[in-house]
Amino acid sequence: MPSPTIVWFRDDLRATDNPALSWAAERGPVIGLYIHETVGRPLGAAAAWWLRRSLDALRESLDAPLIECEGDPREILPRIAREHGAAVTWNRRYRLREVDEELKASLGAVSHPGFLLAEPWELSTSSSGAYRVFTPFYSALRARLVHDFPQPLPRPEVSGAPVEPVCVPRRDEPAWTHTLARHNTPGEDAALVRFHAFLDGCVNGERYDNNDLTPGATSGLSAHLRFGEISPRYIWAQCVAACDTHPSASDSIWAFLRQLAWRDFAWHRLYHHPDLAVRNVRAQFDRFPWEWTQHAVPGSTPRAFAHAEMDPQAHHLTELAAWQSGHTGVPLVDAGMKQLWETGTMHNRVRMVVGSWLTKNLGIHWRHGEEWFWDTLVDADDASNPFNWQWVAGCGDDAAPYFRIFNPLTQREKFDPQGRYVARWAPEACLPGYPEPMVDIKASRAQALAAYEIIKG
Ligand SMILES: Cc1cc2nc3c(=O)[nH]c(=O)nc-3n(C[C@H](O)[C@H](O)[C@H](O)COP(=O)(O)OP(=O)(O)OC[C@H]3O[C@@H](n4cnc5c(N)ncnc54)[C@H](O)[C@@H]3O)c2cc1C
Repeated sequence: MPSPTIVWFRDDLRATDNPALSWAAERGPVIGLYIHETVGRPLGAAAAWWLRRSLDALRESLDAPLIECEGDPREILPRIAREHGAAVTWNRRYRLREVDEELKASLGAVSHPGFLLAEPWELSTSSSGAYRVFTPFYSALRARLVHDFPQPLPRPEVSGAPVEPVCVPRRDEPAWTHTLARHNTPGEDAALVRFHAFLDGCVNGERYDNNDLTPGATSGLSAHLRFGEISPRYIWAQCVAACDTHPSASDSIWAFLRQLAWRDFAWHRLYHHPDLAVRNVRAQFDRFPWEWTQHAVPGSTPRAFAHAEMDPQAHHLTELAAWQSGHTGVPLVDAGMKQLWETGTMHNRVRMVVGSWLTKNLGIHWRHGEEWFWDTLVDADDASNPFNWQWVAGCGDDAAPYFRIFNPLTQREKFDPQGRYVARWAPEACLPGYPEPMVDIKASRAQALAAYEIIKG
């Protein structure tokens, strides 16, 4: 009997187009392993909720035992590999790189691409640097995929090694996460069903418009992609094929693929800025007078941060709490925050509006928003979340124009003209007597613009 291979699952909880799993299956018996890592940023509660169910789905569908452990992979992986005399393989990730590098060197593990459309180091500007702006990045990505596109792999035939599958004890989940099950179905099967329903919709004439707040108007795939339940290369290949057979759907499909490329871009940026979640990409924003309090968010850990003033008693904590719970007096903001709390997700347009309100009108540091999203979004990830928060706050690279301040009332008129989104998530905001915005929109905008002047100089 050939010796087994351990597939270390991380952000790739799927069997279709899983290069590490296919590679291991070709070699012989397979042992699946998932480590609840005690290194790196702990998962937020909503993402942890998703992960638990995604692992259950993987365990059900994988024709091999899945071992779950908790701890530092640098201790666990060598031990389990030794115990079973097993080789080790995985699909790459672009966080905790030092952990993977150490393990790769010590175990001779074989790593594969599969989480992104292109590896972050495969695309570079003419001066061999990282891309800072999305549009040229996207052009380079498309050009690369035309010439160099590894076809997605089918689900492999797997033979499991004779090993006892192990589960870790179920963790207590916060009470508020119980609503998530009404709106989300984690797992590869659900991801494939959702993607194909979305693509069929495009092919049958439904227009993809990422500013459309109607439920189902966008793919709803972000958490599935976050946990790797569906591969972006699979999505890309299916979409390109659908454009060939249904040219009339091309505009919608390419608009969707362009959005998908933002995900690659966020990871490209994280690869080149590993401290994206804690440090302004544009250093002059270290002088921006955002309100900031260490430990304002339950579960947040102290991190080095350049901004000096910290006032633990600051009044902005009340404002932060009102924002988190959707009580700002701004209907679109309140509806978005309530959608987030109930479903673990929020429409992208509304994410931008609530982010702008927090960082510009309330003058609260983007990191407080990022931490809140980290805890409450099912799709929260190490790249897209901080990248987009920096974009919204203006301190990211491609945040042009950095002084843009969304007016949440005109955004509502433009993107929710019939008021359906607000009526669905904050019906009380449609009734007379709803409170006025907690800060004056015009005055707070003027204040934010004045603050931008400080950092320009
Ligand atoms: C402040 C803020 C925080 C965000 N945090 C996250 C996060 O933690 N995780 C996350 O996946 N997305 C994040 N986004 C991006 C975006 O809002 C979600 O990906 C999108 O709403 C998911 O809905 P969908 O799957 O229906 O997207 P679709 O419109 O169907 O897009 C398809 C896919 O493209 C990717 N995508 C689309 N827009 C973006 C974007 N701006 N950045 C990166 N990828 C994108 C997602 O994987 C998405 O599933 C954030 C946006 C903002 C403004």
